[in-house]
Amino acid sequence: MTNGTINVTAENIFPIIKKFLYSDHEIFLREIVSNATDATLKLKALAEFGEADKEESELRIEVKIDKEKKTLHVLDQGIGMTAEEIEKYINQIAFSGAEEFVEKYKDKSDKAQSIIGHFGLGFYSAFMVADRVEIFSKSYKEAPGVYWSCDGSPKFTLRETTDKKEHGTEVILHINQAESKEFIEEQRIRELLDKYCKFMPVPIKFGEREETKKTKDDKEEKIKVDDIINDPTPAWTKKPDKLKEKDYKNFYRTLYPMQFEEPLFWIHLNIDHPFHLTGILYFPRLKNQVEVQKDKIQLYQNQVFVTDNVEGIVPEFLHLLRGVIDSPDIPLNVSRSYLQADAAVKKISGYITRKVADKLESLFKNDREDFEKKWEDSKIIIEYGMLSEDKFLEKAQKFALYPNTDGSYFTFGEFTEKIKSYQEDKEGKLVYLYTSHKEEQYSYIQSAKAKGYEVLLLNSPLAPHLIQKLEGVHKNISFVRVDSDSIDKLIKKEENTLSRLAENEKEDIKKLLEENIDQQKFTLVLENLDSHEAPFIITIPEFMRRMKEISQTGGSMFGMSQLPEVYHLIVNTNHELIRKILDQENREYKKQMINNALELAMLSKNLLHGETLSRFVSRSFEQMIS
Ligand code: ADP
Repeated sequence: MTNGTINVTAENIFPIIKKFLYSDHEIFLREIVSNATDATLKLKALAEFGEADKEESELRIEVKIDKEKKTLHVLDQGIGMTAEEIEKYINQIAFSGAEEFVEKYKDKSDKAQSIIGHFGLGFYSAFMVADRVEIFSKSYKEAPGVYWSCDGSPKFTLRETTDKKEHGTEVILHINQAESKEFIEEQRIRELLDKYCKFMPVPIKFGEREETKKTKDDKEEKIKVDDIINDPTPAWTKKPDKLKEKDYKNFYRTLYPMQFEEPLFWIHLNIDHPFHLTGILYFPRLKNQVEVQKDKIQLYQNQVFVTDNVEGIVPEFLHLLRGVIDSPDIPLNVSRSYLQADAAVKKISGYITRKVADKLESLFKNDREDFEKKWEDSKIIIEYGMLSEDKFLEKAQKFALYPNTDGSYFTFGEFTEKIKSYQEDKEGKLVYLYTSHKEEQYSYIQSAKAKGYEVLLLNSPLAPHLIQKLEGVHKNISFVRVDSDSIDKLIKKEENTLSRLAENEKEDIKKLLEENIDQQKFTLVLENLDSHEAPFIITIPEFMRRMKEISQTGGSMFGMSQLPEVYHLIVNTNHELIRKILDQENREYKKQMINNALELAMLSKNLLHGETLSRFVSRSFEQMIS
């Protein structure tokens, strides 16, 4: 028997560790169970090499609670440890890691929490929740069993024992009752196993559950079976050609049991070089608003859950995806600042972006019809990617879609081809007309179509940003919303000088309108439009509206959203109504005609509300009687 002092300089480092890791106490279970997993996999590997006996039955891990003794036990059937190995791996290595940790953070007690994030302390983290930790271990080699015990001071006990007969290790945690009682509650441990160990590669037993079984004489019988809480071979660890659509969908359900929508499509990641990474990313069905989501991408290291905060590892636009990424190259000690600076992690991010773009391109090429069907539900993620990652934007040219108002989908190139030359203005600029709302901007769309123009339907919340981006990337193009000016001004061709009014008549109508229209609200513009265009048209200049929209959806134009609405009132001097107004002799009647026309224009722009609307309606009824 040995009584010794662990080689640590700090007199008692446990309280410091406890304080630093406060918010993350629960990870001790992940650490202890993943040690058990490692020990099991090591033995399996040795058996493969012929250096250990092959096992008859499958090696397992067991987690159990002893309520009376207030202990939590983790047992494995792995390689075990000899006394020398405990000396070396537990006393020296494990503890020296802890010492380093304390050295590093002892002066930074306030900041330590944010720096640490998860600090994988391995075996040592057991002391965050236990007053005393015991180990019973027996090596797979010919060696006596060993017992080790430590109460959280640097002192430990190590002796031989005959209590341990089979190879493997049992770690016993005497759970601290003042602060950590929760860890002898079955519910809590089940929850943690589900969070951290759900896909660990060795079967983990936690208690028993009832199962119904048919007996020989066809009766039903309830039997107790071991409750295995994990799936040791989750979908992402398998080869893509071994998986069917159903398997991917089932795995999605396992990951997010509360998620009832099926995923749109998925990407199976599998790379060996220059780093190892596997995983499956799912595109969820996202409607028009960007959902605040709780079902996030989960990060694993060799099937051990690390975090679902993938910031820095996965490009931001892909945070909206779901699924799993597993890489041994992602450090378990996930501290944010550390991760973001890590070169391997940076490469991972670039790789994932490329893979996602390639997959989208092949989905588009192989089944365009299906891709078009799913566009509305996936566009937010793709557009977000185009805005935030230039590499993705470049690749997305091949598959990003732009629907027109008739429901046909085009790539940017295809659409450009379609409108080329015809929608060029007199300066040679190509004009992309668009609407953000087919119903609200109906009459404007019709005017554009009557001219033979194509109108895009860009209704995603990111559209204003995307338009801005596209105008920056492609030279000599501009996007204008159909209701931002009269159609003749939107795509300026030759000036229409044909006018039904004489110059003095134009002066008259201008004066008349100025007297009768609130010029704070409307900027008057007289135009010679086609006679069948509406007499009064209200527009909002493209630039003003777009800046407002961008600032509303989180753009940089701070304060723009507070700007008052600016409207242009376009008066079509070629419309018959203008002549009628001029010819009208009764002043009161003249005024009424102007007011009516203005309100009709407002109505068609959905600007007539409340009192003005109700007055307009009653007046219209009265006019029907008179
Ligand atoms: P890490 O797992 O990061 O190496 P730990 O502090 O968790 O660090 O463990 C230190 C070492 O103790 C392990 O590398 C392993 O050699 C040994 N060890 C811990 N738990 C077990 C176990 N259940 N069976 C066999 N060896 C173990």
